[in-house]
This record gives sequence, structure tokens and C-alpha cells, in this order.
Amino acid sequence: MEKRTGAGALRVPAYAKINLTLDVGALRPDGYHQVTSVMQTIDLADTLLISVAPAGIEVSCDAPDVPAGEENLAHRALATLAPLIPGGIRVDIRKRIPRAAGLGGGSSDAAAALKGANSLYGLGLGERELLAAAAGVGSDVPFFIVGGTALAEGRGELVKRLPTLPVFWLVVVKPGFGVKTGDIYRLYRESAKVGRTSLLLRALEAGDRDGIIAALGNDLESVTCALHPEVAALKERLLERGALKAVMAGSGPAVYGIFPGEAEARLAAGELKREMPGADVFLTRTCRCVDAVGKQEG
Ligand code: ATP
Repeated sequence: MEKRTGAGALRVPAYAKINLTLDVGALRPDGYHQVTSVMQTIDLADTLLISVAPAGIEVSCDAPDVPAGEENLAHRALATLAPLIPGGIRVDIRKRIPRAAGLGGGSSDAAAALKGANSLYGLGLGERELLAAAAGVGSDVPFFIVGGTALAEGRGELVKRLPTLPVFWLVVVKPGFGVKTGDIYRLYRESAKVGRTSLLLRALEAGDRDGIIAALGNDLESVTCALHPEVAALKERLLERGALKAVMAGSGPAVYGIFPGEAEARLAAGELKREMPGADVFLTRTCRCVDAVGKQEG
């Protein structure tokens, strides 16, 4: 939800995502794999402070391992709107989502920058225009324009809203290393399909929690786990701590465990924080996490 912070300034949250399913298909002529994924925003977010600047686009980030300026995905997103922006724009990112984790932090910052610029300058862009701008920035960016629960197809940029997932309590763990999404896709070899996305869509439609949990899964796990056995060990650890299921997010290495409820998730998160001081451990939950585009509060 965007919040006005003063004259000409907005505070916009940029939520992380998990992939409830990630089915990876054939390599396309353009070098991307065909993907089918049900994506879900979670209540873990960066915050973008967006304000009017005298001229040009300025992007800063408080995380030393995330690029500022033109390399930042928020900057690239704003550059696509530059011809429409009458003045300058400044974005200061407060980073909470770990980078190179599979949680889509950079893509979410980019989508939040587009929505924020649209509101700040009253550009009047509708969802369709924002989705088109987002698709030019990166495959996952359109999903974050929509948020909540959505089906992503193509290279990920074709997004369709789905019925909102019932709330699930999660523990998300990001080991102390990152992976490059491109490296994982390059190593992926298509294998026999288990069709988990269609199972999930049926379970979602029926509001069947057990069916939803049974359908969760990610084709890229085999690649990332082969490169980094710590990821398979992390899944095991979450299951030992009471997770009903543990699945990698995107290309990893972050893994999420789904817990029966808040108390169980909180207990497991506390234990994992103590046991894994080198990892980022988050107690969080699935959420709608978005407002109608352009709506403001306060
Ligand atoms: P995805 O799941 O979409 O592949 P990810 O969660 O694995 O993404 P990101 O955190 O989005 O990874 O970061 C990917 C790379 O993008 C990082 O290595 C970082 O240098 C660069 N980057 C550019 N802008 C940002 C940003 N605003 N936040 C995080 N990373 C950014």
C-alpha cells in the first residue's frame, strides 16, 4: 500500500514472492525457457521512498551488495517511463528482501517504482500499460504489478490473477550464499512433467488446503540442489522442524517451509535462527500484499 509521506513523496512497499509451483518447459528460440508458475506475494518487503527530484532519475539503496544508479532494476523500470515524467524522480530503497535469493526482490522493486511513479506524477497509466512497461524490464516484473496469487506463463511475463490463496504461515530461509538465475536455467534439462500447476489450480479453485500443499513444487530444485547440497539439507531441516512441505523459491537458494499455523512457524523460525547464524530466517505469511494500482492512503 502506498503512503504519502509529505509533499511530493510516497512510501511504497515492494513485497517478495515465492513460487508455489514452477514448471520449466522447453528452451525457446529467444534463449528463455517456457515456464508455468503459480506465484504468490509474501509479507516480507523492501520499502521504496519515492520523491520528486529536480531532474533525471536517481536511485539509491541502503544494501551495499545491491547496485545503486542505472544498474538498479528500479532505475531501469523508471527509464521506460522517462518520456512521460515531467520532472525528475528520486527512489531510495530500504532493502529487506535478500538479493539473489529467488525471492524476486529486484523485480519487485522495479514494479513498485513503476507504480510509485504513476501515482506520484498522476500519469494515469492503467494496469495494462504498467504490465507492458514491466515486461520490458524483466520476466518477473509483471507479476509484481498484479501481486497476490497469479499464474505466470511464457517466460514468466504473461500474468493472470488467480483466486487468493488461503493464508499460510511460512518460514523462509536464505542460506549465506546467492545463485544467479541465468546459471540455474542454463543447467536445467527438461524432464518428464508431473503437471503440478494444473493440480494446484484445481485445489485453489476448490479452496482445498491439503490439495494445495500436495501440489507445491519446483523443477529447478534438482539443479540448484546438485550445485549446492546445502539447499536439499535446508529442506530437510525445515521438515524436521515441523514444516508440512518445504520448497525452493524460484532458482533459489531460498527455501520456504509451510507450517500448520503461526505458533508452529514462530517456534521453527526461532530454532533455525539459533542453529543457522549465517542464514537469513524470516517468519512470514502469504498475503494479497497489493492495492488497486494507483490507489493511495493517508
Ligand atoms: P529472481 O527470482 O527474479 O531471479 P532474485 O530474487 O534471485 O531474482 P534479485 O534479488 O532480484 O534476485 O537480484 C538479482 C540481481 O539483480 C542481483 O545480483 C543484483 O545485483 C541486481 N539488482 C538490481 N537491482 C536490484 C534491486 N533493486 N534489488 C536487488 N537486486 C538488484
